[in-house]
Amino acid sequence: MTQQQTGRPIRSIAIIGGGSAGWMAAAAISKVFGRQIDVTLVESDEIGIIGVGEATVPHLSAFNRLLGIDEAEFVRQTQGSFKLGIQFNDWGRIGDSYVHGFGTIGRDVGLLPFHQYWLKARAHGRGKDIGRYSINTVAAPLDKFTAPPSDAPPNSPLAEIAYAYHFDATLYARFLRRRAEAQGARRIEGKVIAVHRHTDNGFVESVQLENGDHVEADLFLDCTGFRSLLIGNALGVDFDDWTHWLPCDRALAVPCEKVGPPAPYTRSTAREAGWQWRIPLQHRTGNGHVYSSQFMTDDRAADILLANLDGKAQADPRPLRFTTGKRRKLWDRNVIAIGLAGGFLEPLESTAIYLVQAGINRVMSLFPNADCDIALQNVYNEQTDFEYERIRDFLILHYHVTQRTDSEFWNYVRTMRIPDTLQSYIDLFVANGQFFRNGTEMFGLTSWVQVMLGQGLHPRTYHPAVDWIADHDLHALVDHVEKVVASNVSLMPAHEQFIARCCAAPGG
Ligand code: FAD
Repeated sequence: MTQQQTGRPIRSIAIIGGGSAGWMAAAAISKVFGRQIDVTLVESDEIGIIGVGEATVPHLSAFNRLLGIDEAEFVRQTQGSFKLGIQFNDWGRIGDSYVHGFGTIGRDVGLLPFHQYWLKARAHGRGKDIGRYSINTVAAPLDKFTAPPSDAPPNSPLAEIAYAYHFDATLYARFLRRRAEAQGARRIEGKVIAVHRHTDNGFVESVQLENGDHVEADLFLDCTGFRSLLIGNALGVDFDDWTHWLPCDRALAVPCEKVGPPAPYTRSTAREAGWQWRIPLQHRTGNGHVYSSQFMTDDRAADILLANLDGKAQADPRPLRFTTGKRRKLWDRNVIAIGLAGGFLEPLESTAIYLVQAGINRVMSLFPNADCDIALQNVYNEQTDFEYERIRDFLILHYHVTQRTDSEFWNYVRTMRIPDTLQSYIDLFVANGQFFRNGTEMFGLTSWVQVMLGQGLHPRTYHPAVDWIADHDLHALVDHVEKVVASNVSLMPAHEQFIARCCAAPGG
């Protein structure tokens, strides 16, 4: 039966949950819609936030611009550092190392991306490792960093540096809270104990707090983290579990003392049943071991984590459990799930905060009236499915394309059946090094090519049009790009110097 349409505009939004998802939503919506819409955020200090989520992708700077956030202030207040990419150690084989750097690789010529020319040069024994042609991947292990200088010549590698941030997730939520409240968002401290729904259409009418108060709204954003109080518990939207493709389901997180200057990259080291992260901040280093409980005990995971810290642990490892996957619909009736309430892809490529940002942008661009038209819901859900599935495939690539045979875990992921969508990307790349970004998928050519090569996947040949360039011109192109990248990196300051100059945090 078609629901009666009222055409009534939305006047109030209740955001339930005050982690990164809740406060990012409150800050963005109160900024964009001003005081035309009542924004109320409910959070429970007793429950707290997940407090991990310290590494990001470059898209976050667009979110900061939308909010009018000054970068230096943001980095200072969150004890942040800069991230040029992720260094993957021991993934393809034990002893291997590559960087998935943001930005670009080399210089595209004519129709073709640079890596096509590099493939032929490589076949001639000329090309060096693909990382030598990207400013991000050369600068990262040298601990160098700069934001693109305003006087960098356009098209120079310096002008093309793309970067993200590392930050303290708890400080980030506080930072956003101050902004959201200053823009008019109202915060209510309290624990939700019940969700009440209209009997006619099943829309959520109010949430009831422990003290008996009710919070009513036209639209609810479920930002309650893994509890998924509204979309999962109250509306009963099913969860698609992707553990068979991404078997890691636990993590232990522990901060340690920093030793030495912060590296401008996240480090991900593959372990026998998962991987370990290292995220350098100004005041400390964040660490975590992500692992599969099917293949490793918690005690063994803790031993591995603690044996591989740069500095002294500052706390006991904190256990976290998760299931990789997503709700079948992230928007149902008048509830939209943002953040962990809607789904989680494990943190290997730091995509969760990006998915929060993408969800908020989508809410604002498909903004409904109080009827929450089903056509809008459908578009929202289709776009979200696509986005999650494309990231899911990119993550599976890291596990599946490996030569590791040293544990049951690696034997499982190396030989498991993968989604057809991923298989077709792999087949295309192996055929002649091609990659085509599918519409708006998050990771583009630079990311896929670096990870495919880094994991040990090598194309059989290159695009035939590469042969239109004489060999000596091809070699000159590849050598020239390498030299230009190296000379630009030599102009970059140390990451630590850059931070000291523009955004040193108190006590950092
Ligand atoms: P939470 O932070 O859990 O917030 C939930 C909120 O809901 C809290 O305020 C809580 O108090 C409130 N709440 C819950 N129940 C109730 C109730 N009954 N009443 C009132 N309030 C309630 N993301 C990245 O982008 N990069 C990373 O490097 C990264 N690393 C991660 C590592 C691990 C191991 C995990 C598990 C996640 C990681 N993430 C990462 C994901 C990231 O932490 C989250 O996406 C992000 O913090 C958003 O979380 P959230 O706000 O959805 O949930």
